[in-house]
Amino acid sequence: MTTKLLTHFIGGKNVAATSDKKGDIFNPATGAVQGQVGFASTADVDATVATAKEASREWRHSSLATRTRVLFAFRELVNKHKDDIARLLTLEHGKVFSDAQGEVQRGLEVVEYACGLSQLLKGERSDDVSTDVDTWSMRQPLGVVAGITPFNFPAMVPMWMYPMAIACGNTFVLKPSERDPSVTNFCAELFQKAGLPDGVLNVLHGDKLAVDRLLEHPDVAAVSFVGSTPIARYIYETGTKHGKRVQALGGAKNHMVLLPDADMDLAADAVVGAAYGSAGERCMAISVLVCVGNAADKVLPRITERMAKLVTGNGLEPQSQMGPLITKVHRDRVASFVDAAEKDGAKILVDGRPLKVPGHEAGFFLGPTLIDHVTPSMSCYKEEIFGPVLSVVRVDSYDDAVALIHGHIYGNGTAIFTNDGGAARKFQRDIQVGMVGINVPIPVPMAYYSFGGWKQSLFGDLHIYGPDGIRFYTRNKVVIGRWPDPRFRGVDLGFPQHK
Ligand code: NAD
Repeated sequence: MTTKLLTHFIGGKNVAATSDKKGDIFNPATGAVQGQVGFASTADVDATVATAKEASREWRHSSLATRTRVLFAFRELVNKHKDDIARLLTLEHGKVFSDAQGEVQRGLEVVEYACGLSQLLKGERSDDVSTDVDTWSMRQPLGVVAGITPFNFPAMVPMWMYPMAIACGNTFVLKPSERDPSVTNFCAELFQKAGLPDGVLNVLHGDKLAVDRLLEHPDVAAVSFVGSTPIARYIYETGTKHGKRVQALGGAKNHMVLLPDADMDLAADAVVGAAYGSAGERCMAISVLVCVGNAADKVLPRITERMAKLVTGNGLEPQSQMGPLITKVHRDRVASFVDAAEKDGAKILVDGRPLKVPGHEAGFFLGPTLIDHVTPSMSCYKEEIFGPVLSVVRVDSYDDAVALIHGHIYGNGTAIFTNDGGAARKFQRDIQVGMVGINVPIPVPMAYYSFGGWKQSLFGDLHIYGPDGIRFYTRNKVVIGRWPDPRFRGVDLGFPQHK
């Protein structure tokens, strides 16, 4: 039964969409529609950008002290409501509650980093660059910034963006995923309660129509995007064509290299967590295990033993370790990769396709799946599956493992498991991937570093949040100044030279 219609949050108010177009919000664990979200029309986008532009007139001049206070208050409210956010998230996304709590925590860490804005926004200064002439730089806000975010981290990924952009003095229009949108309204209302002036953070729901209008709107200065690679490329190309600063983070296929000397129990624990956590719907999930030499024979029995104990079910039930996938269409797409791998001669060691969760027969579940003897030509290797499917590729040597990773179009995250420090050091230096784990399967940088992949996992120059986030959301300005001394007056047409 439909219970709610989610509206935009514009200028501090809930505002209904003016178009008739709506999207269903499912509970992926039951398969039931639990609400709907109204999609923006072009007029809605224009009105939202106008509101953000108006709010920007004051917010860009708000003191660092004011911004810091509001961000600290927001930090307190997110922390207080962590479980409320996590519950909302589980209901619409499906991930298990403890995982949702972890997501909120990692988003909160970016808010905490942004609380340090007074340190982060300091410019540089040099006295007496020439006689009695000083020079200094300042970082100024861009104006209105848009964020477009994916379904898989509906709380955290937007928090990679808006606390940073707002700390830098920008106003923000967030277009979250239409599949699990409620959590963004909840967080925007918390920010308002924390004292954020109306119009500084706006949530606009919608689909391609809304995104396209944001990309071409003359008053949107910059766009942060996180989502799949085809859309990331489109956002980057279209946004930059319209003169915007764009960072567009895309998809992934993260390989974990297992050398034969590794601690196999540690590796098995790590890969099971990294492949099946959040049902594999993480851009940093491990989806390929590259076993070097005889590593496969040692680790696979340990992996299957652990997989046999995994509990898949409704994310709100405490015994569940893995929840459903986001939609039925996505569930069936993930299963189709397993079908294709089987047809192509790979060996399905653990098959999640027949899984039924009692009492949740209409839920979008697929059990953890393990495929051995995968080769680079198979679709399950080439494509980002984004589900609980781990492919095992066997190679002869470390060099073969590195060549395999370099042959893939993605370069988001990777990991190596070994007890050989020299091999680990060589790997971290050689590998053409943006985030590297050494005996750490999911190397997501802390909030005070920046997050980003290489190759087709990121379009743009700067990574997201951390120091790169400050650079992305500000424009550098350099000033050269002098307080004139009456002794040095007079016209001089020569090119200024430093004396
Ligand atoms: P998606 O690309 O389908 O959607 C992302 C956003 O783009 C949504 O807000 C959606 O409404 C919008 N969108 C979708 N189609 C569009 C179109 N044709 N034109 C304009 N806008 C469009 O991604 P998703 O399925 O929501 O999320 C999963 C993907 O996100 C995976 O590929 C995953 O790897 C990636 N992801 C990447 C990172 C990262 O940091 N690199 C993090 C999280 C997720």
